[in-house]
Amino acid sequence: MSDSTTSTDAALRTPIVAVLGHVDHGKTSVLDKVRGSAVIEGEAGAITQHIGATAVPLDVISEIAGELVDPTDFDLPGLLFIDTPGHHSFATLRSRGGALADIAILVVDVNDGFQPQTEEAIEILKRSETPFIVAANKIDTVPGWNPTEDAPVQATYESQSDRVRGDLDEKLYEIIGQLSDRGFSADLYWRVQNFQNNVGVVPVSAMTGEGIPDLLTVMMGLSQRYMKEAMEIDVAGPGVGTVLEVKEEKGFGTTLDVVLYDGTVREDDTIVVGGADSTIVTDVRALLKPRPLSEIRTESRFENVDELKAAAGIKIAAPELDDAMSGAPMRVVRDREIDDVIGEVEAELADIAVDTVEQGIVVKADTLGSLEAMSNALEEAEVPIVRAEVGDVAPRDISVASTAEDPMHEAILAFNVDVLADARTAAENQDVRIFESDVIYRLIEEYEEFVEEREQAQQ
Ligand code: GDP
Repeated sequence: MSDSTTSTDAALRTPIVAVLGHVDHGKTSVLDKVRGSAVIEGEAGAITQHIGATAVPLDVISEIAGELVDPTDFDLPGLLFIDTPGHHSFATLRSRGGALADIAILVVDVNDGFQPQTEEAIEILKRSETPFIVAANKIDTVPGWNPTEDAPVQATYESQSDRVRGDLDEKLYEIIGQLSDRGFSADLYWRVQNFQNNVGVVPVSAMTGEGIPDLLTVMMGLSQRYMKEAMEIDVAGPGVGTVLEVKEEKGFGTTLDVVLYDGTVREDDTIVVGGADSTIVTDVRALLKPRPLSEIRTESRFENVDELKAAAGIKIAAPELDDAMSGAPMRVVRDREIDDVIGEVEAELADIAVDTVEQGIVVKADTLGSLEAMSNALEEAEVPIVRAEVGDVAPRDISVASTAEDPMHEAILAFNVDVLADARTAAENQDVRIFESDVIYRLIEEYEEFVEEREQAQQ
């Protein structure tokens, strides 16, 4: 084992970045372009594939960003991108009292502007007080656009004809106006002095790669200048993380995909994990990370490691994980009192728990974070909740909904979960409506339409 011998092992971890935005606005393409640029610019293996995340180290960022980034100005190790884009995964990824991601990129299609999921993403970012920058994407689609290889993108922008730049400006200022309507002071990123209080808008094309170096530069600058304290960790300390997914894995049984944001996890560590019914205490049997692409063999996509440091995405194999929940906290016990650690995990879980009332609708969701996002949206829409749980829609949910006093409450909103066959039959028999979607606003819209229909039927 390496450098974990000293008792104070303070270090700066890699800032964690999430990508959000409306469907089809280019979240996946932006992430792919960042990863693709990193592969082209870096030596083979320079970007590190984690479980559920990709690390782009500082030297690769400075290669991509060219003159924009002088690596000697930075002591943060790079950026760790969460691989699953969207506000759903963002909301799931909680850390102690906040969002797991330190920074977010909000992708907005310049042609499409703000859309319902852009609004949802902004609400979630606002609530979690996560600093973000806007990638105003698809600038290559502006008619007459003349792409250049230049970084910064400001030079490309200024080199366009007045007409083309005018067309783009109209779209960009629409986005900037939308941001200021929601209380953010925003501007094109090269006009922003202080990124802590202002949202920088970076014109990009995930297609041509224009603006991607700028995006990386702004994020590095933002983290280094304003968020460095948040990156201070005790590297050798007991690991603290969030469960990304609970997954069955051939040869390993039930495993946890975890984003570790503080400390270290080691093989044989005792860990405490939030479970659906009770808190799980178990011992790490194996720590797994993905094999490098060049080494993938048929028998396993993973390789064993004996220790891993934050920030990292890792797979943990351990007994008795079946009850673990996505979005739940994971903590290493090491030399602390186990009851204290259980207390910490329970306090975190209570912090995410949804308040319910005597009369209301039933809400089911796939993770704690999405349950919380649903409950916030329902609170805003003034819809009360009688029961909120992680998991598929089951017959007992139908029983709860069918005994509602108010017919408007005979409904279940199912976010990104399945409806068990016997639950569906029971719902049909008992006139309980189930709404299913992986888009929050759609569920709420459909529920509101249902309320209207029932109200009209009553008159
Ligand atoms: P997501 O749903 O937000 O992840 O969006 P995707 O990354 O899947 O992109 C949606 C569509 O837009 C795809 O067909 C992409 O090829 C296209 N697209 C994404 N970024 C750009 C861009 O910068 N320029 C152009 N012309 N098309 C893009």
